[in-house]
Amino acid sequence: MENVRVRIAPSPSGDPHVGTAFIALFNMIFARHFKGTFVLRIEDTDQSRSTKEFEENIYKALKWCNITWDEGPDIGGPYGPYRQSERFSIYQEYAQMLLDKGYAYKCFATAEELLEMRELAKKMGHRIGYDRRYRSLSKEEVAEKEAKGEPYVIRLKIPLQGECVFEDAIKGRITTPWQDIDDQILIKSDGFPTYHLANVVDDHLMKITHVIRGDEWISSTAKHIFLYEAFGFSKPTFMHMPLLLGDDGKKLSKRKNPTSVFYFQKSGYLPEALVNFLTLMGYSMEDAEEIYPLEKIISTFDPTRIGKSGAFFDQKKLDWINQKYIIETIEEKDLWKRIQEWSFQEEFMQKLMSLAHTRMKTFSDFIPLCDFFFADRLDLTESLFTIKGVDQDTIKQVLQYLLFFLQEDWSKENIEKASHEVAKRCNLHHKKIIIPILFATIMGKRKGPPLFASVAILGKERARARFLRAIQFLGGISNKKLLSMKKFWESEEILALDSNKKS
Ligand code: GLU
Repeated sequence: MENVRVRIAPSPSGDPHVGTAFIALFNMIFARHFKGTFVLRIEDTDQSRSTKEFEENIYKALKWCNITWDEGPDIGGPYGPYRQSERFSIYQEYAQMLLDKGYAYKCFATAEELLEMRELAKKMGHRIGYDRRYRSLSKEEVAEKEAKGEPYVIRLKIPLQGECVFEDAIKGRITTPWQDIDDQILIKSDGFPTYHLANVVDDHLMKITHVIRGDEWISSTAKHIFLYEAFGFSKPTFMHMPLLLGDDGKKLSKRKNPTSVFYFQKSGYLPEALVNFLTLMGYSMEDAEEIYPLEKIISTFDPTRIGKSGAFFDQKKLDWINQKYIIETIEEKDLWKRIQEWSFQEEFMQKLMSLAHTRMKTFSDFIPLCDFFFADRLDLTESLFTIKGVDQDTIKQVLQYLLFFLQEDWSKENIEKASHEVAKRCNLHHKKIIIPILFATIMGKRKGPPLFASVAILGKERARARFLRAIQFLGGISNKKLLSMKKFWESEEILALDSNKKS
């Protein structure tokens, strides 16, 4: 294959997801095998959710996984800028091109109109919420509305009949009736582009030959195909990778599983083992071997061996692979150094000193006091979560409400605030109920060093994983229940608990 150019296009709107590393890895393997170029593009069109810190974390996480790219915002390249927020004028230009060619139109629907349409569509069982009422306005009508300063979005004029057919290089032929596809917004009323427009324009301008991305984007591809055709661009080859699945058979999600690459780093996994494990999630080796260094995968890579269906993210298997890597790739004489580099660095240990200083009779109290910083899966027991007058359903709901509050801010101050707010809104005693729940969840014991500071030092990735594990240990929360809890949480009323007793 000649001049292969592939890319990953993450949005910097959350912790670096292990799924991003998975897709990046296959793009890199593909590029290296075919002696092509691997591009990293930052898709930060959603300015309300994108941050510089999340962007930096994407670079850090990928680098930790030994994933390297040839062009990107941090290193430049011939097709930059590689950050979409620096390319807004390009998207305007291309949207105008579609308006001129009659493949897009200005839609003046107000928020109330859209709501009405959506409700009606729901009642009638229609798949598409927007009824295309502004699709056929005359030039004069559009000009009149614009002159009055009515806000508008630019929408794609999806065909009303027929179907979109394309060959996915992994999944085979995909057919989607155009009737199932809405007139996608391309430019929002604030002038910002949506993912679809920016993504297609950039893949074209950056000369991407193969779009290798997660299965969750397959339903967007028909819109993309239409955009390529409307612009008159040649289409890349699409390859939709299998999804990483959680225990529930659904897409691995942060709401239920530890998904941040930093969680795996901080929990003591080796990047080589994680990468090996991720490769197995999407690919079957010819000789059914499971331990495969990256170089060997690159040299023997065969795209037809990429899996078609989702793969369970089995952490026990990852543990097994990790153990193999510890045994086979680290010599005993280097082991302590590697463990030190993992979590016994000066800076981290100094943080623990402030917790331990006044709490030791002898130095030998240090390890038992701080053991939970160096453990991953704590030994949870029923008695740990036995709190007088509070049943286990309540405990897991409290943990979920705390997660709703904390979101991305796991600073000491915010954790303390969260605990008070949840106590108040659940009508529970802060010290007698919330605090013991938190100690049990984070430390696997009833007391220890100062709680809020400990959670902050542990870090949000590992702390969140402990919350999720405790919720799981207490029986888990169904998706339906989770949704209704979220609704209550957002209502700002006193929260509903299955049992709501004060001790
Ligand atoms: N910005 C999208 C994401 O966050 C990119 C999807 C694609 O690769 O087209 O994953």
